Amino acid sequence: MKSFWTALLFTFLLISCGTLPQKQETLTNNSKNTQPFSTTNTVKPKLVVGIVVDQMRYDYLTRFYNRYGDGGFKRLMNHGFNLTNNHYNYVPTYTAPGHASIYTGTSPMNNGIIGNNWFDKFENKSIYNVSDDSVEPVGTTNAEGKMSPRRLLTTTVTDELELHTQGRSKVIGISIKDRGAILPAGHAADAAYWYRGGDEGTFISSTFYMNELPQWVKEYNSSNPSQSYMKEWNTLYPLDSYLASGTDLNEFEKAPRGKETATFPYDLPALQDKNGGYSLLKATPYGNSLVADFAIAALHNEQMGKDNIPDFLAISFSSTDYVGHQYGVNAVELEDTYLRLDLEIERLLNALDNQVGDGNYTIFLTADHGAVNNPAYLQSQGIAAGYFENDDLEKFLKEKLTSTYGNELLIKKISNSQVFLDYQELEKAQLKSEEVQRYLSILLTNYPSVDKVFTREALTNSNFTDGVGALIQNGFHHKRSGDVVYVLEPGVISYSRTGSTHGSSQSYDTHVPLLFYGAGINKGTSAQRTHIIDIAPTISNLLGISFPNGTTGNPILSVLK
Ligand SMILES: [Zn+2]
Repeated sequence: MKSFWTALLFTFLLISCGTLPQKQETLTNNSKNTQPFSTTNTVKPKLVVGIVVDQMRYDYLTRFYNRYGDGGFKRLMNHGFNLTNNHYNYVPTYTAPGHASIYTGTSPMNNGIIGNNWFDKFENKSIYNVSDDSVEPVGTTNAEGKMSPRRLLTTTVTDELELHTQGRSKVIGISIKDRGAILPAGHAADAAYWYRGGDEGTFISSTFYMNELPQWVKEYNSSNPSQSYMKEWNTLYPLDSYLASGTDLNEFEKAPRGKETATFPYDLPALQDKNGGYSLLKATPYGNSLVADFAIAALHNEQMGKDNIPDFLAISFSSTDYVGHQYGVNAVELEDTYLRLDLEIERLLNALDNQVGDGNYTIFLTADHGAVNNPAYLQSQGIAAGYFENDDLEKFLKEKLTSTYGNELLIKKISNSQVFLDYQELEKAQLKSEEVQRYLSILLTNYPSVDKVFTREALTNSNFTDGVGALIQNGFHHKRSGDVVYVLEPGVISYSRTGSTHGSSQSYDTHVPLLFYGAGINKGTSAQRTHIIDIAPTISNLLGISFPNGTTGNPILSVLK
């Protein structure tokens, strides 16, 4: 890899082109371009790096603390500001709403990203949060490139930075997941890059951002970056040293296709064909390594943080989520993934020190949601937990609607624990929506494992200030959301018996790390409760720029110098 980058650097110096176009050249052409933008704060970062670790529970900082090195998570924790009581303030706690809320400073009620997928009642079909048929893939012909942030309704902190600097800031989003790159980068970004697995193993984009990949990305992709990671995955340290996790062999984990047990070592080349080619790397620590490689390449090739106009690099490590889903919260595989991620973060910080200089950049690190411990494992420990069958619920509700109103079509869809009513059918049957909402609410409240139920009527007419009601209201978008919302009892999920998931209002899903480090940031720790929507206004305040236009959070003043 090193010789490749040396060669690339020479190429860069020789032809001095092939990066993303310098927007300021098209706007103005004077020497003021590199002058610092005046703001009220005295310490200004040249570069902000947002790091989202997908599915990182807060306790992964503490559970593996003794095994982390000094240069990764612990450098941020001990030399930056550690907010130990940071939470999501809405449900559902999924990847797309998570990334959207971190960067917009508000929750789905305003930013409109109410799930990864949701039933779109206006298009009358289930949609994916960043899918966009009006754009074309760039760097691939695969439809995985047809993505954009068009469904995101409010601005991001990255948008506001671009607006503030007349587009002179460089803003780039990078992730394995499209939504992990696109939603943080916002609408006005220079680029968002996400991973295309399958038989390609490369980073791609869409025509929303560019018509072709920059030369350095083309060269990066043509070096076949994924192949070097298609190797054995074994534990970083001796297996018997993984005392912060359960035993490697247990009944709560799911083995990849083609392997009998979810146990080390994993022979990735042998498993490749049955697990989607390079897509297999997503559910290994090497997906994080690929993201770190590509982020460092972007840093160098796009000369980020080199002048006094702040740039923004938004990185999201997704493999932690794939590993968590497959093996669960308590797995050796998960611990190993975090120990290796710690080293990737150290590598990234070292690259930032070399290029931008310690003290010239600001980092925040958080997660898009947490995860529940495997319910079958919790049950084995005598803890209340269980599984929920969505299909059974749908059948039950439709049967009841048929016997009461003679019409099972009143339910259009059940999606993300929300019942969407069919307004045309209601009209035909001359039924009031509120009446059916209330009836469904009674049925749901008495249904096994359903904990609480809220109707559209209640969410429209009341203002919930705390508790589950507030979390639901913050996640409820009046146009896009359904008509009856239910939450399950703690520890109950709708998922397979192996691995973990997330999405609830419980603390295991809402409690995530929040670390700040670097320029303009105090050193310290606080158990003061903060919310995910406070991150964007905190960074906006640091940069002296407008808050994202839907912001409902507040700057965390104790963090800022
Ligand atoms: Zn997930």
